[in-house]
Amino acid sequence: MGSVNFINEERPLKIYFIPYLASGHLIPQSDIARLFASRGHHVTVLTTPSNAQLFLKSNPYRHHNYRVQTFQFPSDQVGLPAGIENLAGITTVDDSYKLYYGTMLLQEPLTNFIEQDPPDCIVGDFLYPWLHDLAIKLRIPRFAFNGFSLFTICAMESLRLHRMQPTGPYLIPDLPHKITMNAVPPKFPKDFLEVLLETEAKSDGLLVNNFLELDGEEYVQYYKKITGHKAWHLGPACLVRRTSEEKAERGPEKSVLNVEDCLSWLDSRGANSVVYVSFGTVCHFPDNQLYEIACGVEASGCEFIWVVPEKKGKESESEEEKEKWLPKGFEERNKKKGIIIRGWAPQVLILGHSAVGAMLTHCGWNSTSEAVSAGVPMITWPLHSDQFYNEKLISEVRGIGVEIGVDEWGVYCYGQKEKVVGRVEIEKGVRRLMDGGDEAEQIRRRVQEFKKKAREAVQEGGSSYNNLTSLIHEIKRLRDSKLHEFE
Ligand code: UDP
Repeated sequence: MGSVNFINEERPLKIYFIPYLASGHLIPQSDIARLFASRGHHVTVLTTPSNAQLFLKSNPYRHHNYRVQTFQFPSDQVGLPAGIENLAGITTVDDSYKLYYGTMLLQEPLTNFIEQDPPDCIVGDFLYPWLHDLAIKLRIPRFAFNGFSLFTICAMESLRLHRMQPTGPYLIPDLPHKITMNAVPPKFPKDFLEVLLETEAKSDGLLVNNFLELDGEEYVQYYKKITGHKAWHLGPACLVRRTSEEKAERGPEKSVLNVEDCLSWLDSRGANSVVYVSFGTVCHFPDNQLYEIACGVEASGCEFIWVVPEKKGKESESEEEKEKWLPKGFEERNKKKGIIIRGWAPQVLILGHSAVGAMLTHCGWNSTSEAVSAGVPMITWPLHSDQFYNEKLISEVRGIGVEIGVDEWGVYCYGQKEKVVGRVEIEKGVRRLMDGGDEAEQIRRRVQEFKKKAREAVQEGGSSYNNLTSLIHEIKRLRDSKLHEFE
């Protein structure tokens, strides 16, 4: 890489963001795009029509420097109903393959668009490794995004480096903390994750939706040491949304309940009295697991908000169907005690309310970072992917949550029969944080400290704020350098 004599600091950047079609990728990338827009740069998000609504509405930059370019999703070609363009709308394994195939078919129109009007830089989802060759061809820098915490990426990289395919509980080699994993990841199709991580490491840098203080400087150093690659902590990106309207409008769908009703219900509850239960956008537990959750939460005696994804194609549910997942009389008994949200919940607003005392979570990284940003301790129940590593960061490394004790990967996505977590464990987990006591108090205090640090990180002079400034400078340097070389 050669040196650059002149960097045009005045000329704004033109950046394309290309997120995968899943809310867990679209939401943080749309927020990171806002961060760049808030500094006067021109951002364009490339996505499909039904996902486009995620990026606009109350977005304060939408009339100025924040554009969304849409590409028709090839619904007919892949055999998905019109409008199903997000993993959150998928309820069968078959359909998840169709969605993946559809995203692959988007490569051609996206490539044509980018080639005809190239930006100064691409921020590309790691699930689109083909962006690597395109960026090289066009001689533009490419930054990668995968939606994981750096702690988790370090754990994955460590396993990759040591070519580990664990068959039982295992210690993650060389990590700054001694972490033993009980849940054994399944064997992926050979090289799938390997190729994605390799391509990611060939980018000009990795954008991380976290703040340095939560991952820890030691993980930035570790990552650099084992990959030679730089990670830029820019988050928590959810904090870029400031008004209630912006916070409420994040999903592929509108919240199913009136946001004001939800907030006024929370207003009527005491501080830290409500447990918020949500497992993200992809998990569709089978009825018997939902039943155990209902029993466990009810037995804990806590007030609750429980988000249960809607069964697609089911306009209404008979009493008989309902009793398969909800104990008889549950709603009547808990009329005053809790709310069940069937569908999309205004999660960031809920977590930000002082009545919420804990979150029972699958440890998806967005949910984790939103809980930390709101100072809400977590009861962890990971399901798959990065979630088991995130759990360790929450419970063992930072001490801001307690484990429910799940030690088996499951898909739990589309109602398959899998090992069920029983009501007793669920009740125990909820009580551990909600019933008070020294342990819960200490955890609550620590997560409040991280909340403060998260807010400081994104303010002027904070770590994420300064990282964004340096990153913008770096992208300008790459843009203005004709000497930029690609691997
Ligand atoms: N989310 C929401 N309302 C819901 C369900 C999810 O706002 O009812 C948001 C949540 O706030 C988070 C994202 O969807 O930003 C889910 O991402 P996460 O990484 O936690 O889990 P995933 O869905 O990717 O498993």
